[in-house]
Amino acid sequence: MTTEEKANIDWANVGFGYHKTDKRYVSNYKDGKWDEGTLTEDSNIVLNESAGVLQYAQTCFEGMKAYTTVDGKVVVFRPDMNAKRMAATAKRLEMPVFPEDRFVEAVEQVVKANLKFVPPYGTGATLYLRPFMFGSAPVMGVKPSAEYQFRIFASPVGPYFKGGAKPITLTVSDFDRAAPHGTGHVKAGLNYAMSLHAIVTAHANGYDENLYPDALTRTKVEETGGANFFFVTKDNKVVTPKSDSILPSITRRSLMYVAKEYLGLETEEREVYLSELKDFAECGLCGTAAVISPVGKIVDHGKEILFPSGMEKMGTISQKLYETLTGIQYGRIEAPKGWIRVIA
Ligand SMILES: *Cc1c(COP(=O)(O)O)cnc(C)c1O
Repeated sequence: MTTEEKANIDWANVGFGYHKTDKRYVSNYKDGKWDEGTLTEDSNIVLNESAGVLQYAQTCFEGMKAYTTVDGKVVVFRPDMNAKRMAATAKRLEMPVFPEDRFVEAVEQVVKANLKFVPPYGTGATLYLRPFMFGSAPVMGVKPSAEYQFRIFASPVGPYFKGGAKPITLTVSDFDRAAPHGTGHVKAGLNYAMSLHAIVTAHANGYDENLYPDALTRTKVEETGGANFFFVTKDNKVVTPKSDSILPSITRRSLMYVAKEYLGLETEEREVYLSELKDFAECGLCGTAAVISPVGKIVDHGKEILFPSGMEKMGTISQKLYETLTGIQYGRIEAPKGWIRVIA
């Protein structure tokens, strides 16, 4: 696609908000089965006032991106992983699974139908894809909805960090994100609804994000509201917290693979205690939106932990991880088999 056929958007300044695109995918579940699904131009949804999603928050979502690679192809990063994670989420929320192969096909259809919104290579912008599903039939008593809608929309998003990634400051939250046997490991809308008060509070206190400790003992690192952690030890080992209530980030799992297989670093997934934060050399958050956000400082009830990488730039290992993973996503570095789905 030539640049003239692209949407007239200032890609570098598109920001990180919702930007309506031409087509979205929709499929409905009724009488125990999904319909064939279709693309639609209608971005609005009309629902009964007692729909399961409106009354009891029966909804879940996914997030991934389409990129224009260095050689001009349009690709999506590991959509099969999102399909699989959404299937796990649906099961936990008593929702029907949207078949994983159809999920990937639908992603492909949405990207193809919105090619003019896929930002050109080099702009730092990407096309964000948001698959989601919700209970659409009326409910009165608390029970799973009898009908569901699955959708995917696309929205161009700008570079997450303009002018480089500045390290952020976290606070150890007094609120809980996920209970030990709760829903923290699935991408349920409800996890976000209840995190809003905690993030607004953190911002009001001058922090960028919350570090949520484990709810049971409050001694171990879990994650933030929307990103997993990784740490780098002083002898360059990459460590990520292990817990059943962490959302299994695809970015984090990819970074751990990259650390080991591309950078030859030792990696470890284990419990990480708040008490050992002071011993790490680097800390980062990882997720689809920013890939890596460097963390410069964590404040634990008045006690400041400043990572040696400082408040000016990403640490050396974080930077290498970032460059390698984004290199794979943008086609500058050869990807592991199956990671890149070429769409156009
Ligand atoms: C989506 C999400 C992440 C990041 O997952 P990715 O697959 O890397 O985008 C991390 N934590 C939470 C709570 C999330 O919802």
